[in-house]
Amino acid sequence: MKEIDEKIVNLLDKIYQITRYIQWEITKKTEISPLMAQIMDYLDNNSENLRTPAKIAEDIGVKRPTVTDALKVLIKKGYVSEKTYDKDKRYKILYLTDKGENFLKNESFNYKKILKNSVRFLKIKDKENLFLSLINFVADLAKKGILPIARICPTCENFEKNKFKESKKPHYCKLLKQRMNDFDLNINCEKNVTRRFLWLKKQYVS
Ligand code: SF4
Repeated sequence: MKEIDEKIVNLLDKIYQITRYIQWEITKKTEISPLMAQIMDYLDNNSENLRTPAKIAEDIGVKRPTVTDALKVLIKKGYVSEKTYDKDKRYKILYLTDKGENFLKNESFNYKKILKNSVRFLKIKDKENLFLSLINFVADLAKKGILPIARICPTCENFEKNKFKESKKPHYCKLLKQRMNDFDLNINCEKNVTRRFLWLKKQYVS
């Protein structure tokens, strides 16, 4: 078993290397750094109330000045813009411009789309097994405090695993009052702040 564990870790490392390689190839062509691309992807996938520099830094797991510098370049290049948050005028929120949206839509500039093209060819059963293995793997890292914010169901205080054991949808979200099967599990839930509190406590309180 030890050998297969090592092989899995090496494969994960290869995926990391492949991702970095694709990202740097995109940077060479576009002068958009991997962090800048990651910020644009974040803005594309999160609602207004999470689109502030502080929230981006917290979620991506980098220091706020680093995010601020990257945002300055993105705004200057016209990929991102900012406006006053309608629900609270004290805050500015960020959003993608048409240029930013077009960048993400471009298959050859979006590393996730490039990786997705290979995931597409896996058999459905393999995809399901992979999904479950990865979500459990990420949940374990998040529970150990290694990942700042996971926003996945297994780390959430509202998640009740196997509450309805015999059902086709055995899991339950107390907050949304929804039953879920394994593949309904959310991997970017804006309601899941559990790890955020624990991580912040670890960083600033202890
Ligand atoms: S859907 Fe969101 S709130 Fe509900 S259990 Fe999953 S992460 Fe938690």
